[in-house]
Amino acid sequence: MELHVHVEACISGSRIESLAAEAGVPMLRPVERLFEYSTLAEFLETYEWWCDLLRTPETAEGIAYEAAALLAADGIVYADVLTGPRYWEHLDDQELILALGAGFERAHRDGLTDCRLVPSISREQSAQWAMELVEWIGAERPTRVVGLGLDGNEAVLGRTTPKFEEAYARAGELGLGRTVHAGESSGPEGVRDVLDYLHVDRIDHGVRAIEDPALTARLADEGITLNITPTSNVITGLYPDLPSHPIGRFIEAGVPVTVNSDDPLAMSVSLSGEFEAVARIHDWSFDDLVAATRRAADAAFCDETDRAALHAKVDAFLTNRAESI
Ligand SMILES: [Zn+2]
Repeated sequence: MELHVHVEACISGSRIESLAAEAGVPMLRPVERLFEYSTLAEFLETYEWWCDLLRTPETAEGIAYEAAALLAADGIVYADVLTGPRYWEHLDDQELILALGAGFERAHRDGLTDCRLVPSISREQSAQWAMELVEWIGAERPTRVVGLGLDGNEAVLGRTTPKFEEAYARAGELGLGRTVHAGESSGPEGVRDVLDYLHVDRIDHGVRAIEDPALTARLADEGITLNITPTSNVITGLYPDLPSHPIGRFIEAGVPVTVNSDDPLAMSVSLSGEFEAVARIHDWSFDDLVAATRRAADAAFCDETDRAALHAKVDAFLTNRAESI
């Protein structure tokens, strides 16, 4: 199960190369080096470049399908997948969300990963834009949409969380799951803001909360799940290496954490690879990995019937494993 992954980061280099050729746009860098970056700013700049090549609903539908196939190949049965409409400048927001939902629907029919969609506001967008998006989701109930996200570089854009208080309150009234990127490009104050203003169910990253013990204790008390992405945090320079990552300290503090990939093809990571790395470097046992998967099922933005089915899949996996040992 994967709760923090961006559909725009599930596009292969060769797909980007062919979209660039189709659009008559020269490659930013040779395809072999396209996904090389060392800071969050550099990553976001490259990300925006390839997203500009995503220009039709058919492309969106295909990208969604391919993302579900990619996740399925990694053994993922369920994913809450983020999309940032701001990055798809050539498409109307509604057209985009419907096309991605259609791609996920087709993929699910074909037995690939059950992907749900979480449209994500960019922090530079307006409160009005965010509210219109939420109202449209509430009225239209587009297929596969289960939640609302928020992301963007807070180190550049500054304190933007309070601006979205009303949109998040409305999302809560409409029964949408609420998640926010914070505590990556912001410090503990960014995490505190999303708890105070947006009343989130989950936080994507949230790792810099570890710098403030009182805040870490609050996350544990309020049962806020952190969707942690260890390798992504190292690639964007937040931590020098995986052993320095605080994921283990959150668990010791009683904060529910899940393990996620964030940007599979764009950062050459996979969920199975993240599990393997966390187990090896942070000395997690098999039971620890199962517990992290259970926490992902608990925090998924699906309904309770689907949540029970996810736990049943974990049960079946454990039974099969026990029988084969
Ligand atoms: Zn992310």
